[in-house]
Formats: sequence, structure tokens, C-alpha cells
Amino acid sequence: MARFIFVTGGVVSSLGKGLAGAALASLLQARGYKVRMRKLDPYINVDPGTMNPYEHGECYVTDDGAETDLDLGHYERFTGVASKQTDNVTTGRIYQTVIRKERRGDYLGGTVQVIPHITNAIKDFATADIGDEDFVLVEIGGTVGDIESLPFMEAIRQLGNELRGDAIFIHLTLVPYIAAAGELKTKPTQHSVKELRSIGIQPDILLCRSEKPIPVNLRAKIGQFCNVRSEAVIQALDVKSIYQVPLSYHKEGLDNAVLDAFGITDAKEPDLSKWEDIIDRVTNPEGEVNIAVVGKYIELQDAYKSLTEALVHGGIANRVKVNIDWIESEVFEKDMDSLATRLGGVHAILVPGGFGERGAEGKIKSANYARVNNIPYFGICYGMQMAVIEGCRNLANLPNAGTSEFGNFDPNVVGIMTEWTKGNQTEKRSTADDLGGTMRLGAYPCDLAEGSQVREIYGEAQIQERHRHRFEVNIAYRDVLEKVGYRFSGLSPHGDLPEIVEIPDHPWFIGVQFHPELKSKPFDPHPLFKSFVKAALDKSRLV
Ligand code: GLN
Repeated sequence: MARFIFVTGGVVSSLGKGLAGAALASLLQARGYKVRMRKLDPYINVDPGTMNPYEHGECYVTDDGAETDLDLGHYERFTGVASKQTDNVTTGRIYQTVIRKERRGDYLGGTVQVIPHITNAIKDFATADIGDEDFVLVEIGGTVGDIESLPFMEAIRQLGNELRGDAIFIHLTLVPYIAAAGELKTKPTQHSVKELRSIGIQPDILLCRSEKPIPVNLRAKIGQFCNVRSEAVIQALDVKSIYQVPLSYHKEGLDNAVLDAFGITDAKEPDLSKWEDIIDRVTNPEGEVNIAVVGKYIELQDAYKSLTEALVHGGIANRVKVNIDWIESEVFEKDMDSLATRLGGVHAILVPGGFGERGAEGKIKSANYARVNNIPYFGICYGMQMAVIEGCRNLANLPNAGTSEFGNFDPNVVGIMTEWTKGNQTEKRSTADDLGGTMRLGAYPCDLAEGSQVREIYGEAQIQERHRHRFEVNIAYRDVLEKVGYRFSGLSPHGDLPEIVEIPDHPWFIGVQFHPELKSKPFDPHPLFKSFVKAALDKSRLV
């Protein structure tokens, strides 16, 4: 039976619970255990799919098509275990499930209440779909004391009781340094644990984020006030790279404290060579490249979390540091001259996924700048659609080409597909559907053309990549574009959906309809990002 590790957060938000959990999972994995991670999110949205990236950061998509919290991206990047639909749930979905049952009459006329109905639904979710995993890490979003997370806290409290011996609680807190007093302060942690204990949860381990080392006597004090053994009060110091976290937590004894809390005495020593190699590559790069990311949500880089990490991974693969120049695409709409000033010196240009009209023309101009000036160009999802529009307008004699996403162009070379084939099934969408959950989501196969650049990059004839979009490049424009130098090098198996477009006569110009960044790992950099960073490196050697 799997053992459960519940991770809660206190004092302030943004302490990096997701990362902490992911790093711990990777340590358990390094000891030979099979792990699984999931997240309970207290907000009311049914999933983060309809949430503004400015507010919630990136929406992470799983193979099976769930739109989830970005923490699931950390989980995958640290463990390599693909997340599933069953690994992220929100208050909204829990209530939706319970209310549907109530309408169906499943509760036989009973009064439906937070305890036990909502808490039971949460417990069912937390424990569902577990196979032969040794450890299941469950992160609870939000901060202890939030009104909205209370049902989740109550549910895991109950589980702690029901799974006694097979469940532990880790609480992540902050030990702030007060510069004026020259002291680290433990009071916020004490209060946070007091709050947690008042709802019946006694943490087994405290993970204390701090910008300065926490002396042993202070850890003993925290332990005493919080009723936690001082060996289980672990300092989590700020580190330069997130990939340092597993090594740093191991050094502080986190995985030992976890094994100890479960009474496991026969664990293997962890093999951390993978992480040591990554850190060596991150801290001792042999060069650097500058890559422009021309997007729309650049003020909040969490909106492009997986993308940023995938670029870092591309750097790890090539032993170079990747400097990202974040550029708001709208600037190119107002001021054409800025194109050359902003993009003239970069070694590669990436236009990431996006939605809506704002900034689209700036992205089209960026694709044009990259194409004309032989600068490596990587267009992801919207970035591919924009590159296709650019090619149609400027090379294929279709000056008014556009996408039906924001208008009625002559012609719309990108438009809504209402029907396509997956395996032997036809999937249908109506343009009148709700906005939530109406996209092409999750992993779909793509055939790579013999002799194409992408076929060489992947080294495979068929790939599976994750999608999240409503619109498609219209296959009817394939011939038009292929005549002027493009190649539709990746297609859905039925040949009806363009998945990859490349320009064979360009140093590196690739547009993909899917999101390769979602599958990249520091220990297994995505081939496209590896190749793209390599192209940027080649470019840097030319200039
Ligand atoms: N807005 C585009 C679509 O829906 C692209 C989406 C994306 O880039 N993720 O097709």
C-alpha cells in the first residue's frame, strides 16, 4: 500500500510548496521508490483552463488532456512521472461532482454537507487511481488559515487518522530575517503551526524557508514550540537554481526525516548523480546565448514557466547559459524601428503560445524578422500560426491572410476545426460550446516526414506531443506554402492537421502546433529545445 505525504504551506504564499514536494519526490525516487504527486487546489474554478495566466501563471496540460496547475509541471520536471487527470482537483470540481450526485439523487434525500460529503469527495480524490506507488505526495494549495482551504485540511486530517502509520504531514513555512534586528524570526512559524494544530493536524516535519542559515539552537526552539523533533526541523535555504533543491534538501536531511517519520529503516542510499551532473552543467556553462521570447504575458514569467525551464534544459544539453530577453510583442506594432534594435542582437527568437488579438501583429513581424534575417525561429502553437500567416502574407501572395481567432480575413489560413480524428474515433467540437474544455487538449500523435529537419532532430518517425489550442492551420494552404519554401514536415496520422511547419532553406525555422516545453526535463532535455539552443549557439559564433 502506498504511503501518503501531505504537504501544506504556512505564513505566506509563494514559498514554493510545489517545488519542495517535487524535490522531495525526486529524492525518494533516487532511493529507488516509485512516487506519484498530486495537488488539491482550493479555488472555485473547475480547472485553471479558463484562468488568466497573469493571475494563475501557466496552465499545464497533461498527456490525458487535463488543464492543471503549473505545479504539476514541477512534479513532472523533477520526477519524470507523467501527471494525469486524476492528479489535480479544485474545490470547483469537488463541488461539481457532489452536486451532480445530489441532483441524481445519490444521497437518498439526505442533507448534503461539507462534512462528510465534500470531505469524502476530497478523500476519494486524494486516494483514487493509485497503483503500485510507494509514496503519494499530496500538495494542498493555499496557506493554512485560508477559509477556502479548510475542507481540504479537514479531509487530510481525517486521512491522517485513517491511514495512521502510512501518512505524514510536512508543513512548509518561512523563517524571515529581520535586517534591522539582525535576527531570524520563528514566531510566524509558531503561529502557523498553532493554526494547523487547531484544526487537528500535527506536522511531522517542518521545512523552513530562509534566506540565512538557521542555527541549530533556533531549530531546536522551533521544534519545541511546534511539537516537532528538532531533527525534523529542516532548513530550506534559497538556492541559485531550482535544480539545486533536491541536493540541498538531501544535505539538510529531508529524505531521512521522511523515512524516519514512517519508521522505514531499510531504505537504500539515494543515487544523486543525475542531479549532480545537472548542477555541474548549470553552474559551469561553457558559453551563453541570448534568446528573445516575444510574447504577451511577459510581466509574469510564471505564465511561461515550462517554456523558461525547457530553454534552461536546452542550455543544460549544450552546456551553455540561456539568457532570455522577454519582449512584449505589442512594442513592435507601435514602433517598427524597434524590431531591429530589439531583435538585431539576439541569437534566436521564440514566439510562444498565446490567445487573442493583442500583440498578434507584433508576433507576425517577429517571425518575419527571423525569417528574413536568418535568425533561428521557434514558433510554438500561436507562434507557428503567426509564422504561417507571415509566410502567406509576404511570400505566397495572400497579403490579407489571417486567423479567424480575431477577425474574418481573406483568407483565414488558421481557423477552427470542428471535427478531427483521433485513433479510430472522430472528436467533435462546436464553436458554440462553453469556453472551458473545448480545446484540442493533451497528447496526439504526429508523423514526421522522411528527410525533414524535425525527423532528424527527434530521430523518430512518429512522436506524441501535448496540445492546447482551439484553432488549426488550414491544410488547404499546404501546397501554397510548400511552393514558396515551407515544408509541412509534421502531420496528424490522417494527414488533416498540420502539426509542424519548417523552412528547409533557413538555418532553423520551425513552428509546432503543440507544446513541446511541457515534456522537457532537466535530465532529459526536449530534442527541439536542445536543437534550438544549439542553433542559437551556432548563430552566436557567427556574429
Ligand atoms: N490561440 C491559438 C489557438 O487557440 C493558439 C493557442 C496556443 O498558443 N496555446 O489555437
